[in-house]
Amino acid sequence: MGKTAKKTVALTPFLICLYKIQSIMHIETIAIHAGNQTDEKTGAVIQPIVLSTTFERAEDGSFPSGYSYSRSANPNRTMLEKVLTHLEGGADAASFATGNAAGMAVFQSLKPGTHIIATEDMYHGLRNQIKNLFVGILEFDFIEVNDQAELKRRIRPNTGLIWIETPSNPLLKITDIKSTISIARQHNIKVACDNTFATPVCQQPLSLGADLVMHSATKYFGGHSDLTGGALITPVKDEWWQKIRQVQEMGGAVPSPMDCYLLARSIKTLPYRMRGHVHNAQLLAEFLLKHPKVEAVMYPGLPAHPQYEVAKSQMSGFGGMLSFTLKDGEQEAKRVINKLKIFTRATSLGGVESLVEHRASVEGPDTKTPLNLLRVSVGLEHIDDLIADMTQALD
Ligand SMILES: *Cc1c(COP(=O)(O)O)cnc(C)c1O
Repeated sequence: MGKTAKKTVALTPFLICLYKIQSIMHIETIAIHAGNQTDEKTGAVIQPIVLSTTFERAEDGSFPSGYSYSRSANPNRTMLEKVLTHLEGGADAASFATGNAAGMAVFQSLKPGTHIIATEDMYHGLRNQIKNLFVGILEFDFIEVNDQAELKRRIRPNTGLIWIETPSNPLLKITDIKSTISIARQHNIKVACDNTFATPVCQQPLSLGADLVMHSATKYFGGHSDLTGGALITPVKDEWWQKIRQVQEMGGAVPSPMDCYLLARSIKTLPYRMRGHVHNAQLLAEFLLKHPKVEAVMYPGLPAHPQYEVAKSQMSGFGGMLSFTLKDGEQEAKRVINKLKIFTRATSLGGVESLVEHRASVEGPDTKTPLNLLRVSVGLEHIDDLIADMTQALD
């Protein structure tokens, strides 16, 4: 009985303390402590990985641990969802096997016939999901959400969701989160924000009024290019959230206990990794801006960025992603990408290693991405080495 009672205590002393003084807790501290529970049985400081798919019932048929079957919940997933909740300042989080699975859960949670307005340059994998899997189920428009007149014009009586992504992929466009939300509120429309590029270290959409935050945890949260994951974070446990939880638990597109453990482990260093990414990206962007072969640099931390002021007002750091275009066109972009030595030619982003890709090739024939554009995930190598590599490739 004593043992059972102990198991039901879900909160560590740290978390109880966190609830009380969260307003003065900094993100570095949350990242390290909120996703970990010291093991009561062994005293292990780091929470063990629980691989068991099933959990024992008590004699009365109940589940004293609160766990019954790993698709519904697992101790490692619980702790991952706790740290995600606290990082974004939400009320709850649901984790998924990939970012796309998180997006899918959102679309599946909407009533058939709901109209979605999404940013034109929404992550192409999610745009394809809506366009291919929800035809005849959901209605949708892809528009320039920042054009407020256009946004107001496209709102219909059945519009239920505005989906924004800021900074966007791969053009690093900034959507004004607050003004989008204020328009949405007037029409009782929810706003979801894909916060993958910024991470909660650089931007916290819930604090600006967003109704849902989405992440590809494959990127900065994982941070080491060795796992896939996704997350949704909500400011309230309302009816919509219950539906999303149902999709998660009944659909089962959930991360394994091992991946939950790895993610919680990686998140501990997220705030410090982000500082490094932001520092390196800013300096690389400034270097590229001055280079005679470079046509344009897209990075929200440059005063030349068309939405620099908006970025400054809603971000506490400008992230680690940038794109640039070359004056001599597609062939030159492809020449440069092949000459880089430290930057690896690969898709994805957010890892400690720098990656570069010719984005239009990745997005396929219907891409609107300029053919002379290279997208860079600026890693945590020394910035002097990154600039030296870029210099030799451009020359
Ligand atoms: C990668 C990515 C996704 C999709 O996440 P997966 O983990 O690849 O399924 C969604 N949004 C953005 C901005 C991304 O970069």
